[in-house]
Amino acid sequence: MDLSFYAYLQNAPPAIVLSPDILRFTIITANPAFLEATNTRLDELTGKSFFNVFPENSLGLPSKKVHSLINCMTDAILTKQLKILASQRYDVPVWGTNRFNTRYWRTSCSPIVNESGDMQCIVLTILDVSDDVACSLKKRFVLEVAEERREATLQIEERLRLAIESAEMGTWYMDVETREFIPSSRMKALFGFDSQEVMSYEAAVAQILPEYREIVTKSVEAALLNCIPYNMEYPITGYHDHKIRWVRATGKRYEAEVEGVAHFSGTIMDITERKLEEIRKNDFLSIASHELKTPLTSLKASLQLLSRMKDNPTAAMLPKLIDQSNRSIDKISSLVNDLLNVGRITENQFELNKSVFSISRLIDGCCDHVTSVGTHQLLLEGDQDLKVCGDEHRIDQVLVNLVNNAVKYAHGSFKITLRIESEYPMAKISVQDFGPGIPKNHLDQLFKRYYRADTTSIQNSGLGLGLYISTEIVKKHGGQIGVISELGKGSTFWFTIPLA
Ligand code: ADP
Repeated sequence: MDLSFYAYLQNAPPAIVLSPDILRFTIITANPAFLEATNTRLDELTGKSFFNVFPENSLGLPSKKVHSLINCMTDAILTKQLKILASQRYDVPVWGTNRFNTRYWRTSCSPIVNESGDMQCIVLTILDVSDDVACSLKKRFVLEVAEERREATLQIEERLRLAIESAEMGTWYMDVETREFIPSSRMKALFGFDSQEVMSYEAAVAQILPEYREIVTKSVEAALLNCIPYNMEYPITGYHDHKIRWVRATGKRYEAEVEGVAHFSGTIMDITERKLEEIRKNDFLSIASHELKTPLTSLKASLQLLSRMKDNPTAAMLPKLIDQSNRSIDKISSLVNDLLNVGRITENQFELNKSVFSISRLIDGCCDHVTSVGTHQLLLEGDQDLKVCGDEHRIDQVLVNLVNNAVKYAHGSFKITLRIESEYPMAKISVQDFGPGIPKNHLDQLFKRYYRADTTSIQNSGLGLGLYISTEIVKKHGGQIGVISELGKGSTFWFTIPLA
């Protein structure tokens, strides 16, 4: 081996020179770079078999990799050609510690042949490609992260879309520059348009009730120009169906992203139910105050008169004034009871005190206040022996409410029929009047809190709580409540409770 070869090796990348004995691969020499890369000394290596010095795992070589290194070296000797082993991971022990250095090496086996073609040795050269591998791993990692983010964004968008759909929200978009307006099909439906129809911004504004139109358009402009978030509640009339709906609309201006356009977009949802409940609640408060004020004024007047005649207790007016005061107090306590009941019922804070009792006996007792006045005739029909299981006091409350309503709301009808039927396992109790009946569009609303079908007649004004309280009592018994009504013929309110 000529000296220039050894001189070249000194400054070459990590290299080890092995004799071409296929079974041993005796180490002839190694250059300083190889000693450094493998944490070894030259005297530990020379004259020894390569695989004695670097047995399995000494370079962090799992057996498969040793095998492929032997193959590579054997191939180079047999073919007398350069063989390259693609880059592999090697965990190189760090001298004097238990730690490893992870490196990626590409190894090449060069057979050195003399002029007469005899194999002299093979040179195993290591090319450390760890940085390239780290770089491509990093690239792969960055790509994977980007892909994961894209996936996550798609998932968020999908969840948002589902949330918007399940909340039955409409969405809309408006280009800030061109004012192009794109509503979703749900938004079109809320405004009473067909999903295929074009609904311009102006057409949407035209459906807003006139008294709200200006304030809505001003808020939209403020959001568009001054970026003030937009959040409003207002009523609209359906374009085709002419239905009045309350909607809540929110919106925000989004600045242009790279190459994008500034836009204004948001959501719109139907809040009719909540709004009507709110309106009913407000009405209820003024009615409740009004209802309480009437007996209070009358009580005050009676007490003033009584106080004036307190030094003359024989006055003829005395019994009359006491009666009047009692009636006022009764009225006040009945109203307060209703208010307390609705509070307890709303918070589900009422317990049933159950017993077995006869429903006809209960009906007999609960209608005295009507029969004693003599204005109405009460007829009892059906199975009068039927016994039920429930809270007698609460069922009495339901019956009194239905009978009182028949008296209050069925003008001109003096007959009220009460019917008891067995619909195993329930008993069905109906109260029928022959009054004017109730319009169809009110029927399913009657049982809601604060709902009053006839809001024009002051004489009949109630708190709109009786049927709501009755419904909660019947439901707590596991029963049902309902009404059948025909205009001009009258109404039949019914409820069911478990048979004993
Ligand atoms: P309130 O009588 O206190 O207003 P209810 O909940 O008992 O409350 O009744 C709700 C509404 O149902 C009433 O305002 C009335 O318009 C209607 N209603 C109830 N019973 C009858 C009936 N028998 N005939 C006609 N309308 C009725």
